[in-house]
Amino acid sequence: MVTGRCSDMGFFRSSEVVGIAADTLAFARSAAEESHPNEYMGLLRGEDATDLGLDRSGTVVTDVLVVPATESNPVSATVKTSLVPNDMRAAGSIHSHPNGVLQPSDADLATFGKGDVHIILGAPYRDHDWQAFDREGRRRDLPVLDVDLPDDEDFFDFTQADIDEELR
Ligand SMILES: [Zn+2]
Repeated sequence: MVTGRCSDMGFFRSSEVVGIAADTLAFARSAAEESHPNEYMGLLRGEDATDLGLDRSGTVVTDVLVVPATESNPVSATVKTSLVPNDMRAAGSIHSHPNGVLQPSDADLATFGKGDVHIILGAPYRDHDWQAFDREGRRRDLPVLDVDLPDDEDFFDFTQADIDEELR
């Protein structure tokens, strides 16, 4: 059975970020580790959950667009807004704190206004060494979803069994 998007869901579609793909988070964590002791920084982009075969509305973070940090030092880094593409579809941001502190700095808070979710990865970048924040800098949940990232070739080859597996 081929399952694509369900058009009836359109009324309920929301751009709210509902999670991050496990592979995307793993990629960012290893990139942050490679950048250490300098800061790693990127923008988060997402796909509609329905396009990933999930039976829910919202956006799942599936991509990190790396942005050069302007102040790359072990304590903090800030992004020059001129370096950030003016892409309204950006779901938020991600950056590392080589000092391991999972709290946004004042400079971070100043940039969080754009996007729904902002992730801080802290050294030593293990599974749980990260935290998501909302645009006000408050901690928020960000479920890690074990989804297959769409690849143009086989994206419509999801079977119902695959989807049931993802939703289990
Ligand atoms: Zn920071």
